[in-house]
Amino acid sequence: MVLRVLGFFAGFLMLAVLPVSAQKYPDKVITIVVPFTAGGPTDTVGRLIAHPMTTALKQQVIIENIGGAGGTIAASRVARSAPDGYTLLLHHIGMSTAPTLYRKLPYNPLTDFEPIGLINEVPMTLIARRDFPPKDLKELISYVKANKDKVTYANAGIGAASHLCGMLFMTSIQTDLTTVPYKGTADVIKDLLGGQVDFTCDQTTNTTSQIKADKVKVYGVTTKKRLASLPKIPTVDEAGLKGFEVSVWHALYAPKATPKPVIDTLTKALQVALKDKVVKERFADLGTEPIEEKRATPEVLRAHLKAEIDKWAPIIKKAGTYAD
Ligand code: ASP
Repeated sequence: MVLRVLGFFAGFLMLAVLPVSAQKYPDKVITIVVPFTAGGPTDTVGRLIAHPMTTALKQQVIIENIGGAGGTIAASRVARSAPDGYTLLLHHIGMSTAPTLYRKLPYNPLTDFEPIGLINEVPMTLIARRDFPPKDLKELISYVKANKDKVTYANAGIGAASHLCGMLFMTSIQTDLTTVPYKGTADVIKDLLGGQVDFTCDQTTNTTSQIKADKVKVYGVTTKKRLASLPKIPTVDEAGLKGFEVSVWHALYAPKATPKPVIDTLTKALQVALKDKVVKERFADLGTEPIEEKRATPEVLRAHLKAEIDKWAPIIKKAGTYAD
């Protein structure tokens, strides 16, 4: 009896030390900030998981798109937001490349955020406007080398996955091209379809339907293995650029100092969303799959982010690309 009473008071005390917001969390709309424009691949991932997270949290989860500067504007904004669990950041591999790419990054991905969990890993595809002359990767390489002053490569700014993939491509073929930055690759695809830019590299979550409808030319997938969703497309590695590999991972973060019970609630909701039937089906159609539950945790994300920062730093330094 005494123990039960003590237990009751211990529980009461624990509640009393939690901020009020954490006790009844969530009691208002939660905003997931996506650092690129609506309709693009990061946005697609965000909107797909927002729906089952809304059901799991019994509170509306909405998406806000804040594009610009390769995703760093949105990440700075979330880093400075109130740590109350109502403003979150869904970002991709750019969270790990920006610290090396930017000389003056206004946030530290490792210390200014609380990781919530990994979401998925997405292959990329090297694609061009439909009437771009090169027919395959080998032709693409010789064509861009011969026409380097007029070929345009579109990306979503320094820090975007499309920037990273383009940077790897240019360093592999030792040719610098004119890059055209956008606030997200939804806009890149629009201009690629309109013929305003020549080529890009983007996540399958944005390119699969265009490739299947034969609206763009595709030169390869950026993973080591071919994809079940696009079995006829060779890998960039097998098509001629040995060792070329890049895969985009997405994850969810909260601002630093968000209370642990809030993070736990969000991690659980994310894990529920990743098991959702519609999420799984749509991800599969788009060439990706949800991270398994035991890897959708703050601990795994923290370690992954650190490993990815360490992995990309020497590659970026070697390429010599920097932004201020
Ligand atoms: N795919 C874009 C990138 O290059 C981002 C986006 O528009 O979602 O990072």
